[in-house]
Amino acid sequence: MSSPSNIIRAKLDDVPILAGIELAFIGIGSNLAKGQEEPAAVLQRAFAALALLSDYPILVSSLWESSPVDCPPGSPRFINAVAALRPRHDSPRQLLSSLQKIENEYGRKRGTVRNAPRTLDLDILSFGEVLMQEAELTLPHPRMHQRAFVLQPLLEISPNFIVPGMNPPASQLLRGIVDQGALTPINFTKSL
Ligand code: AMP
Repeated sequence: MSSPSNIIRAKLDDVPILAGIELAFIGIGSNLAKGQEEPAAVLQRAFAALALLSDYPILVSSLWESSPVDCPPGSPRFINAVAALRPRHDSPRQLLSSLQKIENEYGRKRGTVRNAPRTLDLDILSFGEVLMQEAELTLPHPRMHQRAFVLQPLLEISPNFIVPGMNPPASQLLRGIVDQGALTPINFTKSL
């Protein structure tokens, strides 16, 4: 099945119209089915929801299966991906609010257990070169540079990515990460 035209699996450099445009990179994860929908299917639907927030087709990575990091014992494995969008909203806070609405629509429950299994997690990894640190929103995402399940898919879209405000390129940061288990690309074509 082919991709909808507003969701593109491509490298940023292959889409010249996006050169120099302020993009938001979104980290996407799920380790809990939503009813009959397995996490991989939830991610595919999340791509479609994210495309509605973008005024240009979104660029998406492959889906990757990863081991839980900093999660309660016995947590299921995650499916992760990254998307790059050109935000329709003019502020990072508005984008965060839209992402939280999508999470809620996908049955996200916010309990007291940190990093409990979740149907859908959407994080703003970066928003252009914006640096901010507020209670509600920190940019770039404060742990993105420590997580292989973020950097690996992000590098598929943008191999030369530099985390705003950080020196070493993301590719070098990824090489320095150890002990986060295997990260496996998965073949999932059901709803794309
Ligand atoms: P979680 O959904 O468990 O990853 O955590 C979401 C919480 O982190 C929310 O309360 C957000 O306000 C906060 N937060 C801070 N920075 C970010 C960010 N860059 N992206 C998404 N959520 C963020």
